[in-house]
Amino acid sequence: MTMKCNEVQELLAPYADGVLVDDEKQLAEAHISHCPSCRLRVESQQGIAIALRSLNRSQRAAVPADRVLRDIRTQWNLIDARPRRQLRLQFASIAALVLICTFGMVWARLAVDRSFPASFIVQDYSEVNSAPLAPQYSTNDPAAAAKWLRSHLHTAIPPVNLSLCNAHLVGASVVQIHGTPSGRLVYHTPAGMAAVYVVPGKTAFRSLARSQTDGNDFYSITQPGAPGLFAWSYNGLGYGVADASPTEADSCAVAAQRSTSMP
Ligand SMILES: [Zn+2]
Repeated sequence: MTMKCNEVQELLAPYADGVLVDDEKQLAEAHISHCPSCRLRVESQQGIAIALRSLNRSQRAAVPADRVLRDIRTQWNLIDARPRRQLRLQFASIAALVLICTFGMVWARLAVDRSFPASFIVQDYSEVNSAPLAPQYSTNDPAAAAKWLRSHLHTAIPPVNLSLCNAHLVGASVVQIHGTPSGRLVYHTPAGMAAVYVVPGKTAFRSLARSQTDGNDFYSITQPGAPGLFAWSYNGLGYGVADASPTEADSCAVAAQRSTSMP
């Protein structure tokens, strides 16, 4: 069994001076045979002893002894500096860790914040579809609805015209989606009711299935017997068309995408 550095410290100086009893000498030797830092201490101690002896012996011998002492001092400084360097390294590691954690949290928040609230919208649409309420702003003019939404959401929102899929506007409302004020436009269609959601800043669709129509990316949720959702992003806005019929939602999404991306 070998001793730890702190346990062997008081043996090192007597060991260097060659005054330890056999048991202690073996303990010290066992330790310094595998511990370079303690070995350096012993060698330095022996160096000091040699230097002192040569100083005692003659004045001339003091000349090389100065160099030996300088070397020893350098070695001791190196040894003393080691814990400080380690400490500095530890602080640097902690600082780096804090930075990584902070960055990670900010990144995670940004990533979460940009996620398009698809499941919220499907749920909201189901509720509105089963118990229709009068919209906050009733109009069948897409341009008027867009203007109303712009003044309430303080975001540039274009008119969303669904005439291409035979749907006509009923009105607009502002809905809070996970704390983000968003627009909900409700339309009558031949098949029932459709809603277009305009969610500022929510333009990431990681959990949705991706498809392409007319060279545009659409992201969808289509489950048998459940409302369909087709979503896309344009100019920093996340759009979603929800409809009781997924195929209706698909064709209305293409219509809506065309009308909102027109110059
Ligand atoms: Zn040691």
